[in-house]
Amino acid sequence: MRDLFDVIVIGGGAAGFMSAIQAGKRGRKVIILERSKKFGEKIRISGGGRCNFTNLYTNKSNFISENPNFVISALSQYSNQDFIGLVKQHNIHFHEKTLGQLFCDESSKLIINMLIEELKKAGVILRNEVNIHEVFKEGGLFNVNIGVETLKSKSVVVATGGLSIPKMGATNFGYKLAKKFGIKIVDTNPALVPLTFNDTLLSKCKELSGLSLDALISLGKESFREGMLFTHRGLSGPSILQISSYWKLGDNISINLAPNLDTYSFLVERKKSTPKQYISNVMAEKIPKRLSLSICSEIGINGIISDYSNKVLEQLSEQINKWIVHPNGSEGYRTAEVTLGGIDTNELSSKTMMVKKHPGLYFVGELVDVTGHLGGHNFQWAWSSGFVAGVNA
Ligand SMILES: Cc1cc2nc3c(=O)[nH]c(=O)nc-3n(C[C@H](O)[C@H](O)[C@H](O)COP(=O)(O)OP(=O)(O)OC[C@H]3O[C@@H](n4cnc5c(N)ncnc54)[C@H](O)[C@@H]3O)c2cc1C
Repeated sequence: MRDLFDVIVIGGGAAGFMSAIQAGKRGRKVIILERSKKFGEKIRISGGGRCNFTNLYTNKSNFISENPNFVISALSQYSNQDFIGLVKQHNIHFHEKTLGQLFCDESSKLIINMLIEELKKAGVILRNEVNIHEVFKEGGLFNVNIGVETLKSKSVVVATGGLSIPKMGATNFGYKLAKKFGIKIVDTNPALVPLTFNDTLLSKCKELSGLSLDALISLGKESFREGMLFTHRGLSGPSILQISSYWKLGDNISINLAPNLDTYSFLVERKKSTPKQYISNVMAEKIPKRLSLSICSEIGINGIISDYSNKVLEQLSEQINKWIVHPNGSEGYRTAEVTLGGIDTNELSSKTMMVKKHPGLYFVGELVDVTGHLGGHNFQWAWSSGFVAGVNA
């Protein structure tokens, strides 16, 4: 009976931890099987080492999924306030950085330690460096073949995460398992990822590398106003990462480099009030000087503002308030924070995360076709979806 469990959780990350804690608290015999040496590695590196563990304003509008209502049940069964309560219970100090994003004051390791402590309290067995060969169902039980032995259980929770950052242990295990059980998958793509550009724009990005500013980025109905960063590979920063989750090859994006400014009216007024000032210096009052110089030289305007017709001022304004760029790709899974798409939510019960046609089999976290905006929403989804599976498995 040593190899018989009530619940086997595959994947020792955020969602797997939460499932195991809840199942263990219910007195279930639970084991977590983790492929890597260390548990919770993505938690450790998250939020620049301070883990943006949730968001004060998480709600269904912060998630991308083919079924936008799918998240409602899990988020209401285990909310951001529930996780904040747990963090407070463990005396972990945190702060709101911006836009409701909650970060640890000290280190993301405190969140991992907190979860490990909860796992121990719940009696969960943790096993690392496990290589899972096969999962199949036989005689009403799931069999998980780990080479040296085959573990059996009534329930299996698959929490192996998405495809991003393969060097940290990301695998396609969960997707392959889903296919084996005949479960549909929504196409996957890197998301929350820097965007790349062709030669002309790339050289501008390289020239401005390191420069960041507040920008409003729009694509169709979606727009995000947060920081934007020029890098030697293209464009990055929170606003670009956010829009990347909506971007598809062929789409243009529109960038407002001075969201608080009607640039054309400003320039026309300054042409009257300070006609002898260099146009790039006038613009440098509103956007970083390097950027102003770069845009002015691109249009070929290096003189004083009164030298230029209103038509030229309009052209410059467009470059600032409505700069249209055409990404040629993204940095891909190598740097993406998350994976868009995944297990089709039509296959799952939103109340329990159980596969409708395979009782006892659950998929949770990033594996599922639910992708959060930047800002702590992805972890909240991992906690919430993991919780409901753990309460039912
Ligand atoms: C650099 C970076 C920073 C991020 N920062 C934030 C942030 O601050 N806030 C936020 O909300 N989100 C953040 N995210 C996203 C967040 O980390 C993920 O959405 C979240 O970790 C998903 O949880 P999960 O449990 O589904 O998957 P993971 O945390 O990826 O856990 C999956 C686990 O399964 C294991 N595994 C994989 N294959 C197998 C296998 N075959 N057998 C056994 N185990 C396996 C993996 O090793 C891993 O431990 C960040 C992501 C990255 C890459």
